[in-house]
Amino acid sequence: MICNALSVDVEDWFQVGAFENTINRDDWEGLTRRVEINTDACLELFSETGLKATFFILGWVAERHPSLIRRISDAGHEIASHGYGHERVFKMTPAEFADNIARTRKLLEDASGQAVTGYRAPSFSIDARTPWAHETLAAADYAYSSSVAPVKHDHYGWPEAPRFAFRPITGSDLIELPVTTAQFAGCTLAAGGGGFFRLLPYQFSTWAIRQVNAAGAPASFYFHPWEIDPDQPRVVDAPLRSRIRHYTKLDAMAGKLRKLTTEFAWGRYDAIVADLAKSL
Ligand SMILES: [Zn+2]
Repeated sequence: MICNALSVDVEDWFQVGAFENTINRDDWEGLTRRVEINTDACLELFSETGLKATFFILGWVAERHPSLIRRISDAGHEIASHGYGHERVFKMTPAEFADNIARTRKLLEDASGQAVTGYRAPSFSIDARTPWAHETLAAADYAYSSSVAPVKHDHYGWPEAPRFAFRPITGSDLIELPVTTAQFAGCTLAAGGGGFFRLLPYQFSTWAIRQVNAAGAPASFYFHPWEIDPDQPRVVDAPLRSRIRHYTKLDAMAGKLRKLTTEFAWGRYDAIVADLAKSL
């Protein structure tokens, strides 16, 4: 049985890409935070089976909730970086990106006592526009990135990128483990979790994971703490499409995750990447 990579992208309900044009960044401080209670619920869920996962965490969250970062670490999970304030990589200069990941890493390492060696770009924003991003991560001694979605999507995607783990820079040990995709009728479909897992039938995700595992590769799966929170505040003036994507089936998510975590074997990205490195 292949061990698949499980991740939680730790950000609050008001920090998601879908609301970036509706909620002003300057207003974040005054909004009701749900990230701590929701991430604790994720820890509780994982403790039922004892699985260990990777938490890609915003520096903004670590700065305000250091004890949460410590709890995640103490429970045996990997602490990894999701950037400081959910800034998309292709909107930053290389120097801004280097600052952003350095600041975030310090916050996460100070709070957890754990070395941070993994990075996930907000909204999978490492793509054809950012040929320098992997080099910046390698120069900062990251072991891996899971920041590429090799699909066409309205918000993100790098369709030409490899679907499975690869070394993005010749001569560097850095590994990119893209988010899982599946192939059907000549098309590549996003199938790595998040909204796709929540909105589509459960069997779509299990079919995709089995397809990837049948090719001998681990799945790379993610979800967000706010996705298991039906009681989060509603952003009524967001575009209809964003609201449908964000609020549909929140109440069924925890049950679906429970099923998925017992149906497959799951582990931390750092361990899975170290294993993949032997054959890349
Ligand atoms: Zn995110």
